[in-house]
Amino acid sequence: MTRYSAFTLFREGLRGHKGWSKAWRSPEPKPEYDAIVIGGGGHGLATAYYLAKNHKITNVAVLEKGWLGGGNTGRNTTVIRSNYFYPESAALYDFGVKLYEGLSRDLNYNIMFSQRGMIVTAHSEHDMEMAARQTNAMRLNGVDAELLDRDQVLKRIPLANTRPDCRHPIHGGVLQPRAGTGRHDAVAWGLARAADASGVDIIQNCEVQGFITEAGRCVGVETSRGPIRAGVIGAATAGHSSVIAQMAGLQLPINSYALQAFVSEPLKPVMDTVWLAPPFGTYFSQSDKGGLVIGGGLDRVPSYGQRGNLPMQETVLAGLAEMVPALAKVKLLRHWAGIVDVTPDSSPIIGPSGLDGLYLNCGWGTGGFKSIPVGGWLLAHLMATGRHDPLSQPFDLTRFPTGRLIDEGAASGIAH
Ligand SMILES: Cc1cc2nc3c(=O)[nH]c(=O)nc-3n(C[C@H](O)[C@H](O)[C@H](O)COP(=O)(O)OP(=O)(O)OC[C@H]3O[C@@H](n4cnc5c(N)ncnc54)[C@H](O)[C@@H]3O)c2cc1C
Repeated sequence: MTRYSAFTLFREGLRGHKGWSKAWRSPEPKPEYDAIVIGGGGHGLATAYYLAKNHKITNVAVLEKGWLGGGNTGRNTTVIRSNYFYPESAALYDFGVKLYEGLSRDLNYNIMFSQRGMIVTAHSEHDMEMAARQTNAMRLNGVDAELLDRDQVLKRIPLANTRPDCRHPIHGGVLQPRAGTGRHDAVAWGLARAADASGVDIIQNCEVQGFITEAGRCVGVETSRGPIRAGVIGAATAGHSSVIAQMAGLQLPINSYALQAFVSEPLKPVMDTVWLAPPFGTYFSQSDKGGLVIGGGLDRVPSYGQRGNLPMQETVLAGLAEMVPALAKVKLLRHWAGIVDVTPDSSPIIGPSGLDGLYLNCGWGTGGFKSIPVGGWLLAHLMATGRHDPLSQPFDLTRFPTGRLIDEGAASGIAH
């Protein structure tokens, strides 16, 4: 693997950029591996990367039915944060942010993690009480958080609507200074390049269509490119986790919904933070190219229809126009959707699937981009050792029959 550095960039500049090697290979699948990871999104690629890095397991295949990063990893609004409520979630997501903080250096690939902060605004006295509670919970869990009053919010977001007739006037908000955004494609490409360099086979256009079981244990997969056997299998197929589980004869407590996003024409810098305003059902940030990256809540009805629709466009953009009236005439460039898997408590599922030899990483809902490194780290640990890391234990499937739920509906962003 060519190591990227200022020197290689300079050298390739002189050579007309003819000396770059491919970032990853496209190998033919082998009949057998030590481990198979299903899904070539961020979580699947991170799992393969950490299998190699943390556990020295390199005879690994990542099987992707489409193209690498073409699922939710390439469709999200790239917000990275750990502003959750419960200790289990704080520990999980904050380890994710910490891994992101070192990821560019770790991968030798610039994932453009911009820690510009995230503000969730409060729009009533009651919201301010909840904001104080959220700030205290985050601080008690060792996560950075600041309670802002109205003037402090307006200093960070000078364009915000302060008209006297504003439907939801700003009272204050919660700031997480270490939150921010990353470059989603770079996360997938950087992980793919580093995993490939460790010897992992990344096999695109290879759909898993069933599982091979022997004596009640999962020992391989049937794919569109033939059967492939493995000692252990992990599934990270966000949006289609229930489909994969069904192939293994399992039923997951998951509903799948479309989640939509929008990008505007490029503008000069107007906001240097991520802003989520819950009563408007809208959040946005500004990308490094100047476009506003805008998101909202889930579609109302579960579906696998991976496309945008006008009712959601109207809801989210009406929210944006009320949050910042000056942006009402900005033109949209693109609008799309991804399918997200949502659990009853809006927390992910990480752990054994119920079929011996098959482990799950799914159910991240609207918030799995921020947790790509930690999700991969934890699934790799499970696959390599057969045991939970203490961070993933609370997110095991057993929490559903026992009722030990980690209800992050509000913090997950699903309610926004
Ligand atoms: C519009 C939108 C905005 C979002 N915004 C944010 C955000 O700001 N911050 C945040 O943290 N999260 C956000 N998310 C959620 C986040 O994108 C996902 O939780 C995360 O990308 C999941 O990563 P993954 O690797 O598990 O899944 P994916 O990237 O979806 O990868 C799963 C892969 O599995 C493959 N696959 C499926 N079935 C099979 C099969 N049978 N065989 C082989 N391969 C298969 C798919 O093709 C896919 O590439 C957003 C999501 C959407 C849709």
